[in-house]
Amino acid sequence: QLAVLYIDIDEFKSVNDALGHAVGDELLKGVAERLRTCLKESDVAARLGGDEFTVIQTGIKDRSETTRLVDEIYSAIRQPLDCTGHLITTDASIGIALAPGDGVELDQLLRNADLALYGAKGDGRRTYRFFEAGMDQRAKARRSLELELRQAISDGSLETHYQPVVNIEDGKISSCEALLRWRHPERGMISPAEFIPIAEESGLINELGQWVLNAACAEAATWPDHVRVAVNVSPVQFRSQSLALNVAAALAASGLPASRLELEITEAVLIRDDAALDALHQLRKLGVRIALDDFGTGYSSLSYLQRFPFDKIKIDRSFVRDIAGPGASSSIVQAVVNIAAASDMMTTAEGVETEQQRNLLYILGCNEMQGYLFSPAIPAVEVRRLLLT
Ligand code: C2E
Ligand code: CA
Ligand code: CA
Ligand code: CA
Repeated sequence: QLAVLYIDIDEFKSVNDALGHAVGDELLKGVAERLRTCLKESDVAARLGGDEFTVIQTGIKDRSETTRLVDEIYSAIRQPLDCTGHLITTDASIGIALAPGDGVELDQLLRNADLALYGAKGDGRRTYRFFEAGMDQRAKARRSLELELRQAISDGSLETHYQPVVNIEDGKISSCEALLRWRHPERGMISPAEFIPIAEESGLINELGQWVLNAACAEAATWPDHVRVAVNVSPVQFRSQSLALNVAAALAASGLPASRLELEITEAVLIRDDAALDALHQLRKLGVRIALDDFGTGYSSLSYLQRFPFDKIKIDRSFVRDIAGPGASSSIVQAVVNIAAASDMMTTAEGVETEQQRNLLYILGCNEMQGYLFSPAIPAVEVRRLLLT
């Protein structure tokens, strides 16, 4: 039996754009070298062009051997790479097809491995998938959703709703978070959890992100002066070098003071190269506030807090959900609140649904809360009504 792996390297494009071809080439060379260290003599590795590689694993008895190889590949390429002086951490998505089950011709195996790769990316980045029947259909559905999303930006079926964030002590609204809503003509409401990843993969997120930014700034300019607006910024938007410029443009067009705009970013931004950190500093210089979103999920290392002086930490709702339970959630929240207080950062708890959660968060010293207990995300007109009465 054979396994054909289709490997797509993350970060290559952003590294290439931000740091130049020499560093990009160095990165791919480094990755190729590390790939080879995982292979046995009879296996084959080749670059398919761009930032894609294929590996053909020979003489396997079952797929567990392939899974083991994939694990090895991940641990090899996830080590930071020194590329002409830049320490770069990269990662990959991998699609796998097996011969003879998924095909006998190399062409077909590669095509199926590519479909599996497409599926892997659909799961979010940094994962692998084996080819399965039906992946073809799903890939088609995804592509058509991508086309429809492109259309939706221009035809008005996208809306921003706003979820109030309140002071945990007195319940006063301090800011509202802009959350995208897509009213699909046939499928009804589609969750951003479904379409944001598609927009990120297709690059559409840049356009979409700018659209939300403009809409949110324009809307917030009609709110009372003390209420800020929070906008989510995808790690992909950090790869385009014009983010700070785009933010400045949205502020200028709306007349909203920079201090009333808060950008929410995730840790994924900070594990990239230093270019992202530069972009954060540029944004800070504009005077906008920066919040670290979904804190406690993903890579979640406290060391990220030292990489940039955030204005706010948003504690992920998984901790809030379990806060009254027997696990470590409440001690984790306590630790985060303490660290934040020591470095002049605010803390906002996400997904607060019950009085009990609110009370515990209050006792732990959390500053703000957001969640269904107070209000879900609501249309702009309703927010205005809430704020202006
Ligand atoms: P997020 O940034 O963590 O946003 C909070 C999510 O939690 C929202 O889901 C919100 O509706 C939901 N939520 C709020 N309170 C509660 C609660 O009490 N209980 C529960 N169970 N959920 C609550 P939503 O609107 O579906 O958005 C999902 C994610 O999509 C967001 O997570 C964010 O990562 C992304 N997203 C939404 N709009 C945008 C956008 O304009 N740009 C980008 N880049 N991402 C966006
Ligand atoms: Ca790639
Ligand atoms: Ca958010
Ligand atoms: Ca969040």
